[in-house]
Amino acid sequence: MEIKNIYCVGRNYRQHARELNNAIPTSPFLFSKPTHALVEAKGQVIQLPGDRGAIHYEAELVVHMARPYDPNLPLEALIDQMTIGLDLTLRDVQDELKKKAYPWLLAKGFPNSAVLSAWLPFEGLEKMAEYDFALEKNGQEVQRGNIKDMIFDLPTLLEFSAKHFGLDAGDILFTGTPAGVGPLAPHDELVLKWREKMTGSCKVEFSAKMI
Ligand code: MG
Repeated sequence: MEIKNIYCVGRNYRQHARELNNAIPTSPFLFSKPTHALVEAKGQVIQLPGDRGAIHYEAELVVHMARPYDPNLPLEALIDQMTIGLDLTLRDVQDELKKKAYPWLLAKGFPNSAVLSAWLPFEGLEKMAEYDFALEKNGQEVQRGNIKDMIFDLPTLLEFSAKHFGLDAGDILFTGTPAGVGPLAPHDELVLKWREKMTGSCKVEFSAKMI
């Protein structure tokens, strides 16, 4: 499936904003990743940069646009698929960028930083909120979230993205991570879950030489 633009929401869950000592935003805060960041989690080993400090996992629900944004259409017509993803973040690099008030691209845009598990049909907001999503690391649950707890809901995020960047068929949106983010270590095994079922998994390795 072709993916055009990758939009990501930062600080969209209160407890996560607090755990990184960030203020609760009063309007959506978005950034994007290059499409080179994309990788599908299908049980394989994923190479990550090994020479740039801590890499944190951030499990997030991700939606895929079926058609160009139209404020008159319901979400079910605009979005055709959803999944769980990881917005991997070079946290030490990001902390330095924040100090300088620089954009986050260096911390968020490296290859394999946008991990996606298998796409599932989007069945509407109610269904999406009926079940939690979760991330397990080495067999232990480290994050659990529900879109009911998002600060800015999906309709608001789509409207905001369309207004400021354009939102078209093939664009995807990472909707923010709940509390519990933390660092990855070599050989960590990650399992992404939706409705308590595995939707994707991968193992991470670190290398100073990235592709
Ligand atoms: Mg994130």
